[in-house]
Amino acid sequence: MRNLIYLIIIFSFACNQPTEKTPTTAYVMVLGVAQDAGYPQMNCKKECCKQAWENPELKRTTSCLAIVDPISKEQWIIDATPNIKEQLQLLKQKTGTEKLDGILLTHAHMGHYTGLMHFGREVMGTDNLPVFAMPRMKTFLEENGPWSQLVEIENISLQQLKSDSTFSLNKRIKIKPFLVPHRDEFSETVGYEILINEKTLLFIPDIDKWGKWDTDITELIKKVDYAFLDATFYKNGELKRDMSEIPHPFVEESMLLFSNLSETDKQKVHFIHFNHTNPLLIENSTAQKEVLKKRFNLAKEGQMIRF
Ligand SMILES: [Zn+2]
Ligand SMILES: [Zn+2]
Ligand SMILES: [Zn+2]
Repeated sequence: MRNLIYLIIIFSFACNQPTEKTPTTAYVMVLGVAQDAGYPQMNCKKECCKQAWENPELKRTTSCLAIVDPISKEQWIIDATPNIKEQLQLLKQKTGTEKLDGILLTHAHMGHYTGLMHFGREVMGTDNLPVFAMPRMKTFLEENGPWSQLVEIENISLQQLKSDSTFSLNKRIKIKPFLVPHRDEFSETVGYEILINEKTLLFIPDIDKWGKWDTDITELIKKVDYAFLDATFYKNGELKRDMSEIPHPFVEESMLLFSNLSETDKQKVHFIHFNHTNPLLIENSTAQKEVLKKRFNLAKEGQMIRF
């Protein structure tokens, strides 16, 4: 009998050992890695999405990062995606709660803000949830239904951002939005720098070709500690349509541009925001192997970034 009790004690102790230690200071967690439409993409019957339609484990949600502070038990997300419901469940699995203290928006393309609909009357009916947005993005939400209703009945409370101006989410986490060139039909587009413990994470899910930006991305990578960068398309010709209408930097172009970086700097780069046609979504594809061989990284859902 006594041996059995010892066994139970040893067994329960072993079971309580966390497999991956949760950070004790503020950190960033990846909640989604796909382009706006998610993966697989609606109505896609091509080879790119075939496996993912058949195997739900291969599905990927739209790009989204969470910023978590385990000390104050606060958490924020960057972008409210169409997959916000699943993404907040993933967050809850790691932190024990899906409760949000705010949302930071990048721009008004469908993958980046339409998840806000879940905060209205029909679903959560939140009370003044802070939503951080640039001036045009803020006006877009204030002046167009159904988003205007969220503002009017105070489900959300819009907080206007200023580009290149750093502000504090709390005493451990600082944020700096900055403008990037993109197809700005309804709003401007920003990327974010997240500053925690003197370290910086750069997040640019959507941008036009690097050459169109007045910032030298290669120099910027040297200054930050992590860089989560637009990897919508792997290479030219991936879509049948004229790809100059959607001028994202191809991953092949980015890797060439970053090829002279040191190995340490290359390792900071985490590609994210993959279109359904991007072979980086396919596990062990030649493209994935190429990226890893060149010493760059791929963002993964559930990945925790330590500071
Ligand atoms: Zn996007
Ligand atoms: Zn597809
Ligand atoms: Zn976009």
